[in-house]
Amino acid sequence: MALINEHYLKLQAGYLFPEIGRRVSEFAAANPDKKIIKMGIGDVTQPLVPTVLKAFHEGVDEQGTAATFKGYGPEQGYEFLRKAIAENAYQANGVNIPADDIVVSDGSKCDTGNIQEIFGASNKIAICDPVYPVYSDTTVMSGKTGECKSNGYYDGIIYMPCTDENNFTPDLPTERPDLIFLCYPNNPTGTVASKEELKKWVDYARENKSIILYDAAYEAFITEDGIPRSIYEIEGAKEVAIEFRSFSKTAGFTGVRCAYTVIPEELKAFDSKGNAHSVKKLWLRRQSTKFNGVSYPVQKAAAAVYTAEGQKEVKEVIAYYLENARIMRESLEAIGYTVYGGVNAPYVWVKTKGGMTSWEFFDKVLSEANVVGTPGSGFGPAGEGYFRFSAFADRESTIEAMTRIKNLS
Ligand SMILES: *Cc1c(COP(=O)(O)O)cnc(C)c1O
Repeated sequence: MALINEHYLKLQAGYLFPEIGRRVSEFAAANPDKKIIKMGIGDVTQPLVPTVLKAFHEGVDEQGTAATFKGYGPEQGYEFLRKAIAENAYQANGVNIPADDIVVSDGSKCDTGNIQEIFGASNKIAICDPVYPVYSDTTVMSGKTGECKSNGYYDGIIYMPCTDENNFTPDLPTERPDLIFLCYPNNPTGTVASKEELKKWVDYARENKSIILYDAAYEAFITEDGIPRSIYEIEGAKEVAIEFRSFSKTAGFTGVRCAYTVIPEELKAFDSKGNAHSVKKLWLRRQSTKFNGVSYPVQKAAAAVYTAEGQKEVKEVIAYYLENARIMRESLEAIGYTVYGGVNAPYVWVKTKGGMTSWEFFDKVLSEANVVGTPGSGFGPAGEGYFRFSAFADRESTIEAMTRIKNLS
């Protein structure tokens, strides 16, 4: 008899996006004349930039000639890409990460989920609330939790609420975690963590022999000086942190698929006898067994992001999204909303007015302004009373959506 992994039975049905979809279809069916503007998605809309597209095409053409054809590539990623990342994304910013500590993959979603596998099931995981749902769902799948409680929290996970009261950066937990997920710039709140804030976590992890799993998928959206782009800007972080970065939001690769994970040589985790082991070695063992690398044309396209032209072009696209975020932020503030994020991230996190719940606000904005956003409570209980607008729509729709919201009763 084939038995299933029963941890999967603890997972709650993906509720948020199906429920949004259901309410939007229902409204659209009842109001076929209304033009609905979608600002709920966390996906990019602008095409690949020309320099990246050209390199992508060249990579494909190389596969068509015997002299340049490539079969299986190195599981860790081609050296040309790992070197380009190390030099441009780290060393150019004064952070000494060697190409050997970088592992190329097909996505940060996969990496933040798969990384759980190399850590034992008895690890305690700390996760922010509200949060990108992948961290908690993969914690459940890997057998590190009990059942889901009525508030949506899984037994056994240490939740760290992030609200305006703590500036959307969690307080140190009272119970000691072994693994700590942090994401800055943050999805969904669009907020960032200062150097002091990250230092607090690095010091805590060092004291407690914990590991920080740092998701920096939105690093390229940081515009303000002094905000850390990498956890490794903090002294001592190499011994306690893994960093995940992706070309998805940075260079429009959500449909192309390329990301990377940094695991410093110095990072160690322990066996039950207290012996230290290299985490990088375990991750490479895992990847070389279960993954056969990102396709060559995609890695070639990703490397083109770091050319001078590529940088100029991707920065223009990011500036376009950030200008949308600025328009949203200022329009919403002008009509009395308290707004967070949107300066160093493509998300604007709005506090609803008059104690309205996230879903009440969703329904009002949908029915009266025909705009779709994402209810904050869908990302966790601490998101109740907040609402996320994404800056990934096109400019015209962004402006039109804000005009309609301004005219709300
Ligand atoms: C979009 C996103 C990612 C990127 O995932 P990919 O699998 O690389 O596309 C990672 N983390 C967060 C929080 C995200 O929003």
